[in-house]
Amino acid sequence: MDFSLSDEERAVRDTARQFITREVMPLEQEALRREREHRPGLDRSELRELRLKARKFGFWGLSTPEEYGGMNLPAVMQSLILTETGRSFVQFSFGGEADNILYHANAEQKREYLIPTIEGERVSCFAITEPGAGSDAANIKLSARRDGDDWVLDGEKTFITNGNDADFAIVVAVTDREKGVRGGGTTAFLVDREMGWRSEFIQTMGEGGPAALVFDNVRVPSRNILGEIGQGFELGMKWIGKGRYLIPSHALGIAERALGMAIDYANTRETFGRRIGENQAIQWMIADSEVELEAARWLTLRAAWTVDQGQDPRHSSSMAKLYGANMVNNVVDRVLQIHGGMGYTRELPIERWYRQVRLMRIYEGTDEMQRLIISRDLLRGYTKIGGHLA
Ligand SMILES: Cc1cc2nc3c(=O)[nH]c(=O)nc-3n(C[C@H](O)[C@H](O)[C@H](O)COP(=O)(O)OP(=O)(O)OC[C@H]3O[C@@H](n4cnc5c(N)ncnc54)[C@H](O)[C@@H]3O)c2cc1C
Repeated sequence: MDFSLSDEERAVRDTARQFITREVMPLEQEALRREREHRPGLDRSELRELRLKARKFGFWGLSTPEEYGGMNLPAVMQSLILTETGRSFVQFSFGGEADNILYHANAEQKREYLIPTIEGERVSCFAITEPGAGSDAANIKLSARRDGDDWVLDGEKTFITNGNDADFAIVVAVTDREKGVRGGGTTAFLVDREMGWRSEFIQTMGEGGPAALVFDNVRVPSRNILGEIGQGFELGMKWIGKGRYLIPSHALGIAERALGMAIDYANTRETFGRRIGENQAIQWMIADSEVELEAARWLTLRAAWTVDQGQDPRHSSSMAKLYGANMVNNVVDRVLQIHGGMGYTRELPIERWYRQVRLMRIYEGTDEMQRLIISRDLLRGYTKIGGHLA
């Protein structure tokens, strides 16, 4: 069994690390300062500029097919790069990406939505969650009713990432109540903001914030249906599935950086005449963090590897998401504890991570939903204990 990285993986990982260290980390103090004033750490044009700089460095469209100018990297490579971006708390991600389900668009829609999104000229958001349908996404109610050659959308979506900035929303709506959500009764629509939906900012414990989207008789032409009529829920699940190994990949970077800070602090901060790292209480927090980090790393890389093998990644991705999200919460909590009062201040980014990583246990499937998936796979015999090695 070979746990090493290939030369190519190592080279790509190291180049990403170089970019994050040289171009992104120097922006951290300013980002923290702005966030303390309730402004974004990076504004839209700065993010775009940084992404274009990264493009010159060779990073553009990590998951985007080559015919659209992307790198189409294997999932393991993407996971390694996301870990590197996680090392900085500046909200940066490499550009040249679009929602995976936008590739279901027809040629005209690709010109109007997919390509401008890849190029960073348009911003999308994906909307399935509603006030009455989160974990139970099949309970969505936002309706789309046919009227001539148009569809009229009515209802509300909530907690939509990028909902305040987006130029258009990918909205999953109920088009046939009788068929039901799982029976082909939903459809995905591409809905420009100009068509009439509005967004309302939702304050959260994290930086930035999602939005509620309100659709009050919003008229959408039939040509804006994404994929097939009746395919909405299926596309929605595809969108959510993609993030499941990417979230823990990002978590690994946060945990590595934070644990590194704790080790430095434990080696320098003195109490009672000796460094705090000489106390077993501190040593055990460091040891437990390292063990959990390493376990999360292999769960995550295995989930990514499963994608690259063309196998069904749902079970391994759920395990990686569940464990990785909890690992980073545990590690950041211990890192804060090791820093004592300083950990609680806004001088350091630790309290910021503490707030940020809590979300990882909630979105794109809560801990409880991941457990439900993992146990159901075993109880119904979809997966064997031990996975592909069984
Ligand atoms: C910052 C942020 C960004 C988001 N971005 C997006 C986005 O871009 N697009 C989008 O569509 N959605 C987005 N979401 C929504 C997110 O996916 C949902 O919040 C999440 O799926 C949980 O749904 P809920 O909040 O309705 O909680 P609920 O489903 O109401 O669950 C409440 C609690 O009950 C538990 N629970 C529910 N059912 C069961 C069960 N059967 N067994 C055991 N426990 C159960 C849950 O795990 C949770 O702990 C975002 C959310 C947040 C907070």
